[in-house]
Amino acid sequence: MRQVVLAAAGELRIEDGPLPDPGRGELRVRAEAVGICGSDLHAFADEHPFIDLPVVPGHEAAGRVDAVGEGVSGFSAGDAVLLEPNLIDHSCIYCRSGRYNLCEHLQVVGCQTSGALADAFVAPAERFHRVPDGMSMAAAALVEPLSTATHAVRVAGELSGASVAVLGAGSIGLLTMLAARSAGAVAIAVTDPIAGKRELARKLGADVIADPTDDGAVERIRSELPHRPDVVFDCVSTQTTIDQAVALALKGGTVVVEGVAHGAATIPLHLVQDRELRLQGTAMYVREDVERAIALIEGGSIPVERLVTRSYPLEQAAEAFRAAAEGVDGDPAVKIQLEPQR
Ligand SMILES: [Zn+2]
Repeated sequence: MRQVVLAAAGELRIEDGPLPDPGRGELRVRAEAVGICGSDLHAFADEHPFIDLPVVPGHEAAGRVDAVGEGVSGFSAGDAVLLEPNLIDHSCIYCRSGRYNLCEHLQVVGCQTSGALADAFVAPAERFHRVPDGMSMAAAALVEPLSTATHAVRVAGELSGASVAVLGAGSIGLLTMLAARSAGAVAIAVTDPIAGKRELARKLGADVIADPTDDGAVERIRSELPHRPDVVFDCVSTQTTIDQAVALALKGGTVVVEGVAHGAATIPLHLVQDRELRLQGTAMYVREDVERAIALIEGGSIPVERLVTRSYPLEQAAEAFRAAAEGVDGDPAVKIQLEPQR
């Protein structure tokens, strides 16, 4: 079978590999839509701290069951499924308490094991969810990144009636904005230094957009929202954005650190203390967040066709990665997908 291999920094190849047989408890799935994630781009540049090359990427995947391993019940060939890619040990303190996104031995399909950017891939049957009738594969492959957003929104706390700021209008920022809206946020500001991304945020429902590099951006957001944001989602996680997040948040409010930071940053601790702020990390998701993401898409809350901006066949994986990194025809790419069966 064909598989996309990130071989070394900047080196992507399409290689022949053996069709994997599903082991006990596993399914073999032929992915029909696979999204390219920021972490795939970091891996492609060999800059991801937890992904070693070579790797077959692909963890935002939906497709059809192709073969069923021994001991699997409830799935048969042809079933439409989407992947929840976190591989967990089921036995550590986190797994036993249901917080398996924090598993001591967490691995991610397409990061530490071979992923979905191939003619077929295998993963444990219990890591798959059924795609509801009528949901497109493109939409089903968007469930994984949306689950990151529904988890972040859940750990943020009650958002009904809240003012919210989202720093960063990449795919995770936009999905977080949409998930926050669905959770009841009444006023949402979104910042991004790229004008095209701010415009897209506006079209998708942001009440206030701002260029974070403008002097006075923080002041303007404070004045245009009904009040300072109850919750600030930092989907970038740099020194600049964490400073802005803390500066923006309402006293007693919450700063959610959602973007993957590249290293340490300084926190304005005097403000965290004096304003009684809560600093909340968020990492991946658990089943209820995935189910919430499926329900949001099924309920029409997520304009999938505006978010999945282009799809490519597997042979054009290099072009797809370039589009995901650089945008398409001058427009920022929100979500680029590959269609391995096309
Ligand atoms: Zn565990």
